[in-house]
Amino acid sequence: MPPNKQMPDPLLFTETISPTDEAGVAEAVRRAAEEGKPVWPLGGGTSFECGLHAAKSGVGLSLAKLNRVVDHADQDLTVTAETGMTAAALAKTLAVKRQRLPVDVPQPERTTLGGLVAANPAGPRRYGLGTIRDYLIGFRAVDGQGTVFAGGGRVVKNAAGYDLCRLMVGSRGALAVLTQVTFMVRPEVEAETILAVGLPDDQTAEHLLAGLAQMQNPPVAIDLVAGPSWRNEPMVSWVDAGPSGRLLVGFEGTKPEVAGMSEAFAIACRRLGLPAPEMISSGKVDSLYRRLTELPVPSSDTERPLIVRIGVLPSAVVPTARRLRELDASCTVEAHAGDGILRVRFTRSAEETKKFVTEQLRPLAASVGGVATVLAAPAGAGLDRQTIWGPPGDGASVMRALKDRLDPKGVLSPGGMAFC
Ligand SMILES: Cc1cc2nc3c(=O)[nH]c(=O)nc-3n(C[C@H](O)[C@H](O)[C@H](O)COP(=O)(O)OP(=O)(O)OC[C@H]3O[C@@H](n4cnc5c(N)ncnc54)[C@H](O)[C@@H]3O)c2cc1C
Repeated sequence: MPPNKQMPDPLLFTETISPTDEAGVAEAVRRAAEEGKPVWPLGGGTSFECGLHAAKSGVGLSLAKLNRVVDHADQDLTVTAETGMTAAALAKTLAVKRQRLPVDVPQPERTTLGGLVAANPAGPRRYGLGTIRDYLIGFRAVDGQGTVFAGGGRVVKNAAGYDLCRLMVGSRGALAVLTQVTFMVRPEVEAETILAVGLPDDQTAEHLLAGLAQMQNPPVAIDLVAGPSWRNEPMVSWVDAGPSGRLLVGFEGTKPEVAGMSEAFAIACRRLGLPAPEMISSGKVDSLYRRLTELPVPSSDTERPLIVRIGVLPSAVVPTARRLRELDASCTVEAHAGDGILRVRFTRSAEETKKFVTEQLRPLAASVGGVATVLAAPAGAGLDRQTIWGPPGDGASVMRALKDRLDPKGVLSPGGMAFC
């Protein structure tokens, strides 16, 4: 991989330092706080590559050298590791004991455990398996003054008190630098499959989605995909895809469970007059889940698309997708339909992006009771925080107070969140 794909644009950082242990991280933050210099914790740098750049230049604090497994208590189904370790390296360790951290991780060879917790990405299996917040049970971190603190523990039933783990999830390096995390893990599953069926119209799509929500043994993933990027996707045939796109439904469990769930889904399709679903061969299941998780890494700045995430109630996914198609027939929609999360990819020039987001997309999201967040934008679009995140919302003053308590000098990732 070329070096510029490994780390974010070095111009954002006046210097990048790589401590070898937690004490080194604490010392680096302490020094930055004394000098009033911004500090940007760095994992694999994948979100910076999406276009979510540091808002001010400062010191890049790489966690790359904190990359050890501290303890894999396989009989207790927990693992503790340093946050610079990649998700792929952790998966390899867990696989030795036929265990897994069952969350969808984009670019696992590069995404670090710290970046996974701090950016809180999600994929299709969020519907059945949850996100990293459901597995994080403990952490160690350094606050904005260089003080080490910890939350949770290494056992599933740990100390009472405020759940600080959840505070760290999605904190984007603005509250603390995570140095160590403990996750609950799960045994590997015996069988998994993805079934795909074309959607001739929105009414059929809504009937099918409503039926899936009621299944006794629910799927782990319910994704709806439509648009040009998926028409060229070789992993799924597109022959029977109708105007409303395709539904991809993932099941996992024991072999008889997966066979039973697949049969129930096929019956539901038949009742709606649909053809038998296409079964994605087992060798392609992992790649397809990965495709449904990842944001595309742009090959050049000029090709970087505008990608917006719109969160709505699951029952509003189909009408929202229709409104998006009406707004721009060439957009690509990838919806984690069971969770009400749509990711929509548009081709827009840098100049027109801000107006399009604020005057068209955000009002569209609000009209269906949802919220829109920009995940990636064309280079040079120059989006401000308000355009990326939308209005800060009712909790902003509480979040601001938390930020002030943990990082009184405001050195950690300044401007990285909507409220600070
Ligand atoms: C809101 C949001 C949603 C996203 N959704 C997706 C998605 O659906 N699919 C996808 O492919 N990608 C998504 N991304 C990109 C996502 O950032 C990466 O996929 C990945 O999780 C980041 O891991 P990383 O190691 O590359 O972290 P980096 O890109 O290096 O950092 C990500 C953020 O975490 C902070 N951070 C990193 N390490 C630490 C640490 N040890 N302690 C504290 N903070 C730290 C950074 O300062 C930065 O703010 C999303 C990003 C954001 C912000």
